[in-house]
Amino acid sequence: MTADEALAALAPWIAKRERPAWRPTVEEGDGAPTDSKFAGLPLLAEGEAWPACGGCGQPLELFLQLDLDALPDELGDRYGSGLVQLFYCTGDCDGGWEPFNSEGVSLCRVLPAGAGAPAAENPGTFPPQRIVGWEPLVDRPHGMEHERLGLVTDYHFNAVPYRPTEVICEEVGFRAEGMATAKAIAERIAPADGDKLAGWPHWGQGPERPACPECGEAMELLFQLDSEANVPFMFGDSGVGHVTQCPTHKQVVAFGWACC
Ligand SMILES: [Zn+2]
Ligand SMILES: [Zn+2]
Repeated sequence: MTADEALAALAPWIAKRERPAWRPTVEEGDGAPTDSKFAGLPLLAEGEAWPACGGCGQPLELFLQLDLDALPDELGDRYGSGLVQLFYCTGDCDGGWEPFNSEGVSLCRVLPAGAGAPAAENPGTFPPQRIVGWEPLVDRPHGMEHERLGLVTDYHFNAVPYRPTEVICEEVGFRAEGMATAKAIAERIAPADGDKLAGWPHWGQGPERPACPECGEAMELLFQLDSEANVPFMFGDSGVGHVTQCPTHKQVVAFGWACC
């Protein structure tokens, strides 16, 4: 079976898992303090000083601010209301990869809509980029999530006598043999990398959805922030970061990253 034939046979399974996602369209320069943006001047809580790193004490850099009330209409109320913000230490502090890191080297939060005041000045150094639109794309789940979703690859590593790698999807009565086919399926049923809103996470080392501290539920992708995309920063060795949110407690957001 060729890769194209395999993909065609799996089409009904793929169609059920596809999710809409959006790439940000940006323009150089800062906008209003409430605009969606990378870097630039954000809104802060009333009377709040610019957030500092809990590790080194230096000001955190604003990486992302998203106005949840100005996202594509198709998302409806999925992510709630207010401003999602990610501040991050660009110094030598460790621990920023970890959601809810206790060192305070990142700050990921939701400012309620209609509250707060513009920051007086931005101590950051990144060039601001305003998000002026959203380009839709169709996203597919990462290979590391296929098994959980019913598309199983069995390598038969320890089989004696030797057995070829098999890919099985009972939901659509699919079965194929061979490492090349398995590899092609994993490569072609995959999420977009780069910066994007919603969709499926492009995982670095494995699915890492933080558990909501309020209810224990797995948190869902809100925004994928890649190394050196719209923010001129490298997470570890070309890592990819994810802002996640509890589907029930929409004020609970977190940021973590992993190397690819
Ligand atoms: Zn720091
Ligand atoms: Zn929750």
